Amino acid sequence: MARIFLIAFAFIFCFFSAISQVEIDSSRIICGPKTYEQISFEEVLWIFRNKSRQIEDAKPFEIRIDKLDANGRAQKIYTLDTIQLTRESRFANSLLGYDLNQNWKSLLSLEVQQFSSLKDSLLTLFHPKGYRVRYLQQERDLAKQLRLVTAGRSKTAISLHNFNLAADVGIYRKRRYLRRGMVYNKMGEMAKSIGMFWGGDFAGFPDPGHVQGLKNGAELVRKYPEIGFEYSRFMQVYRQNLDEAEVAKKEDNFQDTQDLLKELGRLQVNKPCACLYAMSIPEPIVWDAQVVVNVPAGWIYVEGYFYRLGTWQYALKK
Ligand SMILES: [Zn+2]
Repeated sequence: MARIFLIAFAFIFCFFSAISQVEIDSSRIICGPKTYEQISFEEVLWIFRNKSRQIEDAKPFEIRIDKLDANGRAQKIYTLDTIQLTRESRFANSLLGYDLNQNWKSLLSLEVQQFSSLKDSLLTLFHPKGYRVRYLQQERDLAKQLRLVTAGRSKTAISLHNFNLAADVGIYRKRRYLRRGMVYNKMGEMAKSIGMFWGGDFAGFPDPGHVQGLKNGAELVRKYPEIGFEYSRFMQVYRQNLDEAEVAKKEDNFQDTQDLLKELGRLQVNKPCACLYAMSIPEPIVWDAQVVVNVPAGWIYVEGYFYRLGTWQYALKK
């Protein structure tokens, strides 16, 4: 009898230790096939964001989605909506190339207000003798940010500057702009003491003139999950940055990227996605819709390509 218990115990022990070996990588999501009964238009917009190849060049003036699911056939046409600004229309606006700051302004207004009063406080509190302190550039549009990324001057495809939640402090001595120096460290200490985050602390890419209202993009997405829609278009870029950093053993410099990928993963896991599985083209038709979804047949067409419908799931740790 005791032996049977022992065997049973050993078996259960082996079973659970085998399970615990399998760990998920919470910063990496992959698309695996799944069948659905129905999919919402909002979910289709997320898939479109993920699969659309247009980034800054060809912006469509409308988005047409054709959908067939358990509720029947439905079509939706999105055009730029700068007045209602519902959750769904903000997603569509983002795809239509609407200015990032304008699109999210009303959602983030309180956050921006708080940051703006922190900026005022910093200038009031920090005025070292013999120096002049002022804010350099207040806003930066996405097109400009993307040019910086292309030029290799910025690693973040979207920065808190795009949402008016970051600012760059310029310190001058005898009318001469100082690029660095201890005076920036003093500014950073003051900024932190009033609850700001200082660019001088950025691991790997210190930016001593930079201050921001939130720790990083991940915190912004955690507070305002809709903003994840903007960040998710660069998921591939972030993933690549992190993979390269891991190879170079510099992943400590990419903690913010890792946080962001985890946040984007949390948002999207168990939600529909378009998988890169080979499949025969169901119907040789050219649609005028950018996205066509046939849920019972399990496929989605995005801008000329067919994908198998699936669900986002966490990858296993290597
Ligand atoms: Zn900055």
